Amino acid sequence: MADQQYDIVILGAGSGGYAAALRGAQLGLSVALVEADKLGGTCLHRGCIPTKALLHAAEVADEIRHSAGIGVKATLEGIDMPGVNSYRDGVIGKLYKGLQGLVSAASIEYVTGWGRLVAPNTVEVDGRRLVGRNVILASGSYSKSIPGLDITGRVIASEQALQLDHVPSSVVVLGGGVIGVEFASVWKSFGADVTIIEGLPNLVPNEDPVVSKAVERAFRKRKIAFHTGARFSGVTQTDSGVTVSTEDGKSIDAEYLLVAVGRGPATANLGYEEQGVAMDRGFVLTNERLATNVPGIYAVGDIVPGLQLAHRGFQQGIFVAEEIAGLNPVVVPESGIPRVTYCEPEVASVGLTQPQAEEKYGKDSVETVDFNLAGNGKSQILGTTGFIKLVREKDGPIVGFHAVGTRVGELVNEGQLAVNWEAYPEDLASLIHAHPTQNEAVGEAALALAGKPLHSHN
Ligand SMILES: Cc1cc2nc3c(=O)[nH]c(=O)nc-3n(C[C@H](O)[C@H](O)[C@H](O)COP(=O)(O)OP(=O)(O)OC[C@H]3O[C@@H](n4cnc5c(N)ncnc54)[C@H](O)[C@@H]3O)c2cc1C
Repeated sequence: MADQQYDIVILGAGSGGYAAALRGAQLGLSVALVEADKLGGTCLHRGCIPTKALLHAAEVADEIRHSAGIGVKATLEGIDMPGVNSYRDGVIGKLYKGLQGLVSAASIEYVTGWGRLVAPNTVEVDGRRLVGRNVILASGSYSKSIPGLDITGRVIASEQALQLDHVPSSVVVLGGGVIGVEFASVWKSFGADVTIIEGLPNLVPNEDPVVSKAVERAFRKRKIAFHTGARFSGVTQTDSGVTVSTEDGKSIDAEYLLVAVGRGPATANLGYEEQGVAMDRGFVLTNERLATNVPGIYAVGDIVPGLQLAHRGFQQGIFVAEEIAGLNPVVVPESGIPRVTYCEPEVASVGLTQPQAEEKYGKDSVETVDFNLAGNGKSQILGTTGFIKLVREKDGPIVGFHAVGTRVGELVNEGQLAVNWEAYPEDLASLIHAHPTQNEAVGEAALALAGKPLHSHN
């Protein structure tokens, strides 16, 4: 078969790959998009969307449990897991269909099959050679484990956890990062006994320390057990359960062990090294413009070291398509990427934590404010505790936004506007926040940081 020529050949159609394809086609470039599994990748089929559907079902269950407190008579009869799964699959199905429609309408050459980089400008799929003026590597990530711990039987990763057709009676979750606390939160709301094991001193350890503490307090109240600073030492399993042990001598029985220790780059045996692409522990190295060391080869998404988030992948995909089209797009620094953890209570942040800001600007050159959601009407209506914390460079812009509380994930976008536009608290304080919304709490934090608090003490 003759080689087929394109402006861009993209390997992997997840968040990063398909965003690059759509933007490239929009800019009039000819694009081939190669996918071995399903258009949409991890986020749509095994990540963001399915987990957030489960978390919404969990929120509904909790609302029913607490409904008497707001005068609504309802009883939670139980969780029908096949019903939850079919609701989740319905959401995925609609989005999948929409995405397929977008890709086919964009006249992108969508190629199904396992691709391999066989020359710096060529991806081969089932003997078909797709030659690109540029190639974008976007092959994504997989659930990692730790040495000696195999994902098998009752030792599961997020992919298997999403396939369960029942609510487990008990689960040990190894890893207190984003994926671990989200599953812990879902299962607890569904009625399981949950224990998290985290090697670092805190849950959600990448967040501002006060945020980690708030999540720990909330989890304690929800009776989600956790052992922080505890190292996993082994697991044994039978037909009905697992026994998990830690180096400090604890032993915990459960129906499953969920391994949520992070995600590794899916780059093995794809020809990247053979074509001279510089790599580090499986990750593809790029400059800040996402170009690899091999001219014409770019990389986007989870295979590029940094935050493994879908919206980072989208943004990187768009960026590279625009770069190839010669539009010279602006680089967004990694710290400007918003981060949300959708457990209950939710966690949202963007920019620098207080310790990071103090390291960058000096301890005396950083100011912070915590606005307690107790002073926010909508949060009181929802019955949530929590806070918004803003970090500013003294007499300078807001450099960090941090939030904990029910539904605060929706507030992060104002935080990211403030941080990325280097807004001063005074700028934010002069804008009007609709009442009663949780967004008002962001405005209140800015008012306080600008020295004119309204619903809080200075
Ligand atoms: C449980 C879970 C929950 C998550 N929740 C969130 C969330 O709430 N918010 C968020 O922002 N992020 C979330 N993420 C992370 C998010 O899913 C990833 O950051 C995102 O999917 C990365 O996009 P990507 O394009 O780099 O890779 P992927 O989405 O992994 O896509 C890569 C694609 O490449 C294909 N591929 C790989 N190799 C080949 C090959 N050789 N030939 C052909 N095709 C190939 C794969 O089949 C896959 O479809 C979550 C992840 C998980 C696992």
